[in-house]
Amino acid sequence: NGIQIAIDGPASAGKSTVAKLVAAKYGYVYLDTGAMYRAITWVALQQNVQLNDELAVMAVVDKTPIHFAAGSPDQLVFAGDQDVTKAIRSENVTNNVSTVAALPQVRAALTAQMQKIAAAGGIVMDGRDIGTTVLPHAQVKIFLVASVKERAQRRYLENQSKGIEVSLETLEEEIQARDYKDSHRETSPLVQAKDAQRLDTTSLSVKQVVEQISKTVDQ
Ligand code: C5P
Repeated sequence: NGIQIAIDGPASAGKSTVAKLVAAKYGYVYLDTGAMYRAITWVALQQNVQLNDELAVMAVVDKTPIHFAAGSPDQLVFAGDQDVTKAIRSENVTNNVSTVAALPQVRAALTAQMQKIAAAGGIVMDGRDIGTTVLPHAQVKIFLVASVKERAQRRYLENQSKGIEVSLETLEEEIQARDYKDSHRETSPLVQAKDAQRLDTTSLSVKQVVEQISKTVDQ
């Protein structure tokens, strides 16, 4: 029923846009693993849980089933029975999620959930550690990168379409801070898998990136 495709890379490199299109092209399931870390972060913030308190955040994980449902244009994300699709994209969640994602027990719990979903194959997952840790045997592994300037620009345009106003300069700083945290945590940090194909999307269109990945899938 299809292969496993892992798409990793730093923040705002275009992973989700591309992963969704690749999934649609092959009739595969798309799983946004960042949304899972974001959903837990959102619930923890709501409940005033200290984000570096591993036991307290684990209590949130244990009480909060995360699930996805079809939606247009974006998949819907639920934390328990709450639709958190929009809420998990807020600046507050974005700037705090790396703290939650650094907790080893939280990673272990969410990784197990991801692996269960991927077991049947026919899946495209995007994240930070899919090719290295979650699906080390994925048949296709892509590592997407782009310059910080380009990534900030993409976030800026995305924000504009949602009516969020944050300066380009601030976005660049936020992206760099998040990448730093994600690359320097102890448990499965953001790093390119040895057998991943690196694609710099700075001056590529979405269509070109999807075509590149499709070539690898079709090989
Ligand atoms: O992909 P997105 O920007 O939504 O991910 C949000 C955050 O979730 C990342 O900055 C990272 O801290 C965490 N994450 C992770 N491992 C993944 C996916 C996301 O640590 N596989």
